[in-house]
Amino acid sequence: MKINIKTEDFKESELPKITKASECLRLVLSHPEFWERCSKIPYFELAGERSDWVRKSNDEIIEHIKSGSETLRPEVDNEVDIDLRIFNPSWRSRNVVGRTWTDVIWQEINRKFFNLYDFIKIAGNMFHEWLHKMGFHHDFRSTKMRKFSVCYRFQKEFLKFAYELYSMEASEVIEVKKKISFWSKVWRIVTFRW
Ligand SMILES: [Zn+2]
Repeated sequence: MKINIKTEDFKESELPKITKASECLRLVLSHPEFWERCSKIPYFELAGERSDWVRKSNDEIIEHIKSGSETLRPEVDNEVDIDLRIFNPSWRSRNVVGRTWTDVIWQEINRKFFNLYDFIKIAGNMFHEWLHKMGFHHDFRSTKMRKFSVCYRFQKEFLKFAYELYSMEASEVIEVKKKISFWSKVWRIVTFRW
């Protein structure tokens, strides 16, 4: 699939990661093996889907995703069109990785996670938010069923496949977390001293 990404509000230094994430999306979504795996996701793992797509088969869902016919831009172009914005999180949105709304064409990514995550996880989140643009929905709250939706379950398959494809482990994220805990310790020492 062709991937078209328009960015807004990104710093110049942040753009190379977008280029890598975009290439990752292209590689995975053009790979027949990825779709083959998606077609084998058991029904109950998609039973938490909250759109009408819950009644459709995996193959129908996949056909729709490949059509690139987004709810707000319904022409069938077989392309992934993403208008991506970045936001600086507030206290309330500090744990939101990405977000979008049904009445806008853009989707957003949290700058905190954008810096923490490797390009594969960024691509995974972009895919998740774009699936909302394709008309898929999940529980808003963190319910038991939320992960059994098209957005979450296909994102999971995407990440698994991408890490295999790049022969990478999700280590970048863990390393950054370690660095953060190191600095937060230093911070604590410094603050206790004063
Ligand atoms: Zn979502």
